[in-house]
Amino acid sequence: MAYDFDLFVIGAGSAGVRASRFAAGFGARVAVAESRYLGGTCVNVGCVPKKMLVYGAHFSEDFEQAEGYGWNLGEAGFDWATLIANKNREIQRLNGIYRNLLVNSGVTLLEGHARLVDAHTVEVGEQRFSAEHILVATGGWPQIPELPGREHAISSNEAFFLEELPRRVLVVGGGYIAVEFASIFHGLGAKTTLLYRQDLFLRGFDGTVRTHLRDELTRKGLDLQFNADIARIDKQADGSLLATLKDGRTLEADCVFYATGRRPMLDGLGLENTGVELDERGFIKVDDEYRTAEPSILALGDVIGRVQLTPVALAEGMAVARRLFKPAEYRPVDYDHIPTAVFSLPNIGTVGLSEEDARARGHKVKVFESRFRPMKLTLTENQERTLMKLVVDAESDRVLGCHMVGPEAGEIIQGLAVALKAGATKRIFDETIGVHPTAAEEFVTLRTPVGN
Ligand code: FAD
Ligand code: NDP
Repeated sequence: MAYDFDLFVIGAGSAGVRASRFAAGFGARVAVAESRYLGGTCVNVGCVPKKMLVYGAHFSEDFEQAEGYGWNLGEAGFDWATLIANKNREIQRLNGIYRNLLVNSGVTLLEGHARLVDAHTVEVGEQRFSAEHILVATGGWPQIPELPGREHAISSNEAFFLEELPRRVLVVGGGYIAVEFASIFHGLGAKTTLLYRQDLFLRGFDGTVRTHLRDELTRKGLDLQFNADIARIDKQADGSLLATLKDGRTLEADCVFYATGRRPMLDGLGLENTGVELDERGFIKVDDEYRTAEPSILALGDVIGRVQLTPVALAEGMAVARRLFKPAEYRPVDYDHIPTAVFSLPNIGTVGLSEEDARARGHKVKVFESRFRPMKLTLTENQERTLMKLVVDAESDRVLGCHMVGPEAGEIIQGLAVALKAGATKRIFDETIGVHPTAAEEFVTLRTPVGN
């Protein structure tokens, strides 16, 4: 049967754009449908605008530190509306770039909601298209738990477009988004409280990293409340919000921001017209090559709920395009050693195993740690300390994990990720010459294991 397209991609986010562009580059006839915004979550309400807000939030510390270097700036003022307007302009520019990338690579761009009609047919508005392969790359959506007053809460989607910076913010959650946005609101001057339902946030990260960040955020004046969760939210006569916690305490705020995870975006997708199955968490179930239970339909990125990071979505998009249209170049995505950063202030950068995971997997480990005040802060009042940690397999000497909390941790960890992927041993770290004076050089000068 002759299909309209070789590949029909639903969703022009990180995964969908990468898969469509490369598939078209390999000679396939490709269409992509996008219902909301080109570039998806990362470009519009994720990584990119988030990083801009993080940069904005860091200036308050920069100004304070500048005094130690002889600068006298007078009283600093911050205007949220300017930051948001400039951010919006930049995102619009990026949307245009994504449009050009798609169109110039020969992809047919359809702007509208796509719905699966059957295993080979997609409907966009009034039009129907057939395709040999359909790729579902519809991403995720913030999930706010059911609770009385839920309608008064916002998610990251709304936070990027608030008309004013709230004076008092409650951030609920203990994952990436909660920690990053708590730092953003606090840095920009809002009185910020983070509420997390268990003992310590960032479950899954290295334990030393979690406690170090907790201590640094507390030192900066962020109010961290663990073992705390909201039972209900009420709007008060003056427009402010009253959150009643499960333990009966009440907290007043102007904004309650939920960052309690993301669900797969399957709304109106028509999966029921196909044989596609979901896993126990509700994400689309795929095999190692992103095939769903319906042979002609593939899925990747956040909608499969494997690793919800843009570079992973990009790698999966590339793998699918290659497997379908350039199999000689196909390489499966390697999910080991995925580096990641949490853009809290200070940042976390991490790659490889946490100490806890390494031990749980049966490694006998040596741990190397350094805590120090970054040189840049020595002329300032700021007492922030950086943490660097290496987890090493005691038998093979292989470095299993690198972890950092401190300025530019994400930038520093990227290079170390190459070393870990190449199988570097601690000896290779030791034999590597440092770059002086930097913070990063600490990673190659850690000599004595903790506890010795
Ligand atoms: P998406 O980017 O969500 O793209 C899916 C697209 O499909 C969307 O454009 C959507 O409109 C479209 N769509 C959905 N349904 C339909 C339909 N039926 N028809 C047509 N179109 C449809 N990751 C990092 O690596 N670093 C970060 O710093 C980072 N920061 C983040 C900050 C926030 C606040 C959030 C929310 C996420 C962040 N992420 C970050 C995660 C990253 O954004 C995602 O992992 C990534 O965007 C996933 O890409 P995707 O293509 O799977 O989905
Ligand atoms: P995460 O899954 O990272 O964290 C969700 C948090 O919410 C956890 O602390 C979880 O607690 C808590 N939680 C879940 N359900 C409830 C509930 N019902 N009540 C109270 N608390 C709850 O999700 P995020 O929303 O922070 O981010 C989604 C994903 O986006 C991330 O996992 C990451 O992959 C990606 N992302 C990446 C970024 C980066 O690379 N810098 C930045 C932002 C997002 P518990 O631990 O107890 O389960």
